[in-house]
Amino acid sequence: MILLDGKKTSQEIKDEIAKEVQKVSEKTGKKPHLAVVLVGNNGASVTYVNAKLKDCKEVGFDSTLVKLSETISEKELLEEVHKLNEDDAVDGYIVQLPLPKHIDEQKVIMAIDPEKDVDGFHPQNLGRMALNLPTFLPATPMGIIDLLDRYNIETGGKHCVVIGRSHIVGLPASILMGRNAYPGNATVTLTHSRTTNLKELLNEADIIIAALGKPNFVTADMVKDGVVIIDVGTTRVVDKSKKSGHRLVGDVDFEKVAEKASYITPVPGGVGPMTRVSLLKNTLMAARRK
Ligand code: NAP
Repeated sequence: MILLDGKKTSQEIKDEIAKEVQKVSEKTGKKPHLAVVLVGNNGASVTYVNAKLKDCKEVGFDSTLVKLSETISEKELLEEVHKLNEDDAVDGYIVQLPLPKHIDEQKVIMAIDPEKDVDGFHPQNLGRMALNLPTFLPATPMGIIDLLDRYNIETGGKHCVVIGRSHIVGLPASILMGRNAYPGNATVTLTHSRTTNLKELLNEADIIIAALGKPNFVTADMVKDGVVIIDVGTTRVVDKSKKSGHRLVGDVDFEKVAEKASYITPVPGGVGPMTRVSLLKNTLMAARRK
């Protein structure tokens, strides 16, 4: 079994980005600039946003945090989005999700200039992804693709079963795995909570991408020998032995499944760090395009 080390791989990519930033800024006198919009004080969102800003610093990007009140109206938030669309100093930006319930997330995503949509959530960018055109890919699916690529894992002609069809992970991951490219060219089965024969499908899978958010859901009896496991799940479970009081658990029963797998991602340290570095890749791409 080979561990798909997202921490190490993402560090390699960050080092490459930092070198590229130096080149770009020597040429243009400008560094790539990411803005992050944070609405309210949701604990997890604050943690994610801080991590994203820290990543920017590490590779030499400029970054701006746009911190807005939990009570901001949808109209006011849309005005902030329009300001960022117009701001020439900002190459790309994201609006950290989830947003407070009184704001229509889809409306906000639709208002983002697709040329600055470094989360890759705008329908125009998702459409371009589906057509295999150059675009900003959503961060987690891009991280998965990069990890398969960096470890030279064969995907062509393989049967890939994706568990979960969310717009940010499962659905785009299934499109990327099925596209005519490497990594891709897999025969893809996209499964969800209404799938009735999941265990049978998993037993036939060469590659499993688990993104359902149910700790230890995929067990050893569900997978075949030699399977490639990409575990996207990150559920916080109480763990008094940890300083934070919790630990992150994946969707796959790592210990037992690892005994059968050819490659497997750990949680944490697998898909998570790859997701973070994808945002940097998209921001660099946005800066280069300009
Ligand atoms: P989500 O929006 O809650 O979607 C979960 C999906 O799983 C849904 O499509 C659901 O089906 C499906 N599902 C639920 N129970 C199922 C079952 N028993 N069998 C088959 N499918 C089932 O979740 P998400 O946002 O994609 O996130 C999934 C997990 O990945 C979470 O643990 C999240 O924290 C984690 N995550 C990690 C990263 C990272 O960087 N590591 C990034 C994003 C998300 P229906 O559509 O039928 O409801």
